[in-house]
Amino acid sequence: MQLIASRYERRKTRQIHVGPVAVGGDAPISVQSMTITKTADVEGTLQQIYALAAAGADIVRCTCNREEAAEGLAQIVPRSPVPIVADIHNNHNMALAALDAGVQCLRLNPGNITDPSKIKLVATEAKGRGVPIRIGVNAGSLDDSLYKKHGGATPEAMVESAERELAYFDDVGFEDVKISVKASNVPLMVEAYRQLSEATDHPLHLGVTEAGPLPGGLVKATAGMGTLLMEGIGDTIRYSLTADPVEEARAGRMLLEALGLRERKGVDLIACPSCGRAEVDVIKVANDALAAFGEREIPLQIAVMGCVVNGPGEARDADLGIAAGRRKGHLFIKGRNVAVVPEDEMVETLVRYAERMMEVGADQVLAESDTARAEKAAAEDRAALLEVQGADANDASTKIDLIRKRVEGA
Ligand code: SF4
Repeated sequence: MQLIASRYERRKTRQIHVGPVAVGGDAPISVQSMTITKTADVEGTLQQIYALAAAGADIVRCTCNREEAAEGLAQIVPRSPVPIVADIHNNHNMALAALDAGVQCLRLNPGNITDPSKIKLVATEAKGRGVPIRIGVNAGSLDDSLYKKHGGATPEAMVESAERELAYFDDVGFEDVKISVKASNVPLMVEAYRQLSEATDHPLHLGVTEAGPLPGGLVKATAGMGTLLMEGIGDTIRYSLTADPVEEARAGRMLLEALGLRERKGVDLIACPSCGRAEVDVIKVANDALAAFGEREIPLQIAVMGCVVNGPGEARDADLGIAAGRRKGHLFIKGRNVAVVPEDEMVETLVRYAERMMEVGADQVLAESDTARAEKAAAEDRAALLEVQGADANDASTKIDLIRKRVEGA
């Protein structure tokens, strides 16, 4: 597939390092998620961190809300496959404890810890250890004075909150910073990040906070982060979903893959929406195919199409696809028919051909296939279906006749 570049260039930001993961500058945009276990539960938290990393998370955040959590972090950090960010609430001592535990980044909410001397102390300690800090502004927990000054949680108020925190960090010579200005309201969040990216060159962490359960949460977060990423804004992202956090990591990876901002590891399964022409339950076959490919590293675009009349043509750009027709599956590679299989073997055939293509390449698989025979079979089924269904598969003309008769007869 040819990738179409965004009309916006990625904004230039400075680069920081969260453990071994570079964030900002020309580093790939990274995916983050957050554990929902008690951080003191070391084994449970590590299990979740491994699951998040497997689903595509490059960095994982854990809450550090009490002493036991900090002690848990001391055991989690050395065993984690990805760098750990400690999420700090109101107690700056927890930030210091998390630094003692060896975390690779802190997240401070300027609305929660407001005492400049405490903020500066944490920044000084972080600086001494080379640990970066995310300034995590949240529209829902803005400092009261800013709320009053701006008449609410406006983009300007959120940016000013970040700038105020940055000024405290500046006072102690601490620059190792990334910033987020999250809101659950998508237009507010988008505008806040746009203004922030004009105001600073620190790397930005994108997120729509408290986006909610699926599918609404996914839509809101994708709308907000997708808009900004296409404008070149954002260096690291997190979906905040009311769901298994593995969904957050997976969604983050899939968003970056969909925008061409991250190299694809797994299949890109496309499927027609089905219609009156469908010769098979497209939803079932597509879901079965998705499950069959699972997390396999097969970075091909694979199409599941409901009928052989239009399927192979509509999905001709896919690397591999299958279209249903008269209880058979017509397999095609880059629009060329290569095999015909019984309908109940469609999914396993797709997987087999995809694996073969990964092994020897599409041209070799085409060369190995009896394309003439497959094309003939597809042409026959296409003609037979056109004969039965005609050009109007949804039978709209019959319905229109019926409606007209009813209206005329009324
Ligand atoms: S015409 Fe065929 S390929 Fe297109 S949506 Fe309908 S069933 Fe799917």
